[in-house]
Amino acid sequence: MIQIQNYIGGKLIAPLAGKYLDNYDPSLGEIYSHVPDSDEQDVELAVQHAQNAFEKWSNTPAEERCRIMMRIADLIDEKLEHLAAIESTDQGKPLSLARTVDIPRASQNFRFFATAAVQFPSEAHLMESSAVNYTLRQPIGVVGCISPWNLPLYLFTWKITPALAAGNCVVAKPSEVTPMTAFELSKICIEAGLPDGVLNILHGLGPKVGAAIVKHPAIKAIGFTGSTRAGKEIASVAAPMFKKLSLELGGKNPNIIFADCDFEKMLKTTVNSSFQNQGEICLCGSRILIEKSIYEKFKTSFIAEVKKLKIGDPLEADTKVGAIVSKQHFEKINYHIQLAKEEGGKILTGGNVVKVNGRCENGWFIEPTIIEGLPWNCITNQEEIFGPVVTLIPFETEEQAVQLANSTEYGLSTSLWTQNLSRAHRIAAQLQIGIIWINCWLMRDLRTPFGGMKSSGVGREGGYEAMRFFTEVKNVCISLK
Ligand code: NAD
Repeated sequence: MIQIQNYIGGKLIAPLAGKYLDNYDPSLGEIYSHVPDSDEQDVELAVQHAQNAFEKWSNTPAEERCRIMMRIADLIDEKLEHLAAIESTDQGKPLSLARTVDIPRASQNFRFFATAAVQFPSEAHLMESSAVNYTLRQPIGVVGCISPWNLPLYLFTWKITPALAAGNCVVAKPSEVTPMTAFELSKICIEAGLPDGVLNILHGLGPKVGAAIVKHPAIKAIGFTGSTRAGKEIASVAAPMFKKLSLELGGKNPNIIFADCDFEKMLKTTVNSSFQNQGEICLCGSRILIEKSIYEKFKTSFIAEVKKLKIGDPLEADTKVGAIVSKQHFEKINYHIQLAKEEGGKILTGGNVVKVNGRCENGWFIEPTIIEGLPWNCITNQEEIFGPVVTLIPFETEEQAVQLANSTEYGLSTSLWTQNLSRAHRIAAQLQIGIIWINCWLMRDLRTPFGGMKSSGVGREGGYEAMRFFTEVKNVCISLK
């Protein structure tokens, strides 16, 4: 049984209270490792180490911070196969996806923000001949980063890398449901020579160790990705302490499909945007809005394509839909499918639990599920399910499409399909949504502002937005007279 350790002050250590949680392989439905059940004492120790490391790290030349982060990126690439295998085992995602998306993106995050460290600009505002202002952006100190289970190393590194690049020391917590790759990253950081205490990784429960990070007075900023529910709790503690907050939360994303779209490209992408990673990506479309004139054509073609997706052992090369991350989440998705039926939804395909033969016979698998016939305001069309479940909703006019798209409390992302450029621009401006993809999905340029509106979050990540979040700003005004 693998015993995961915390990474504090440059060392791998057991949680101070000596308590552990079970970690499951969702494809097998079996416990395969133990995760530290860390608490306030571990946070206190990590904060002390981070504070001790801060002066040196924040004064380390950006080129040197960049060099160390590049070294970590190289080591992630060298260990790609190993990291992909443990990510797939821990989360249930197809190995092919971990190998081509999750792990490459983790090293890309390190490289991207390593170079941001040396390219981060400052601004100057000249007052003709009377004064010059310049903006001084300095590291904040010790910051907290908390990430979810759906893209474990991908999102964990997306949070910590701008913080490190900007010269902060970090106390970070990956999800207790998928801790393995963050544990491996601890070892990589030691091997790469990251100075002790600059990054500290604590494992354990959100309401326990996560909450202790959020409320620690020496932690001045919190970067969080996870559910809207946890985001609210975090904001209620951190906001009265005037901590900087970046919250990347849930979604109920609409795909908006017009009759004039490139049908084949749209269809292929919509299958992916609905069911990649078992639909457990915050950016997956879960409400598919289709112009009425192509509704039947879309429905028939979509069902046919979705039926071709192979569900099963994530380690098999041709698997497209793997296991659901945990028993609890598996039960939540099944509950929502049942609820959709009670709300009057018609299951067009899927809707069932899948029994996989062989080593995965006790794993948690659910068929990709397509539902139609539900009103826009029912629970199924309003609440995030975060699994392989989508609904189809017809619309007649552009105005109605926009209304439907904006009709939930969320506003994270959308994938809009039309060949009419004027309409695309017009709709983009009207959507209450932070990330708008037109005729594509999940095309990511890491320089762009990333984040949601309404209950999908506060603040933006990516590029300079993230570097600015992790710095304290001063205006320095010098009189020229
Ligand atoms: P979650 O909110 O349950 O947990 C996320 C992280 O927060 C975990 O590490 C957890 O231990 C911790 N946590 C939970 N409660 C906490 C608290 N009170 N204080 C401090 N930490 C706490 O979310 P999850 O189930 O791991 O992830 C799924 C959710 O994440 C979905 O809602 C999904 O949409 C969202 N998500 C959003 C984005 C985005 O970029 N907007 C990306 C990925 C996932």
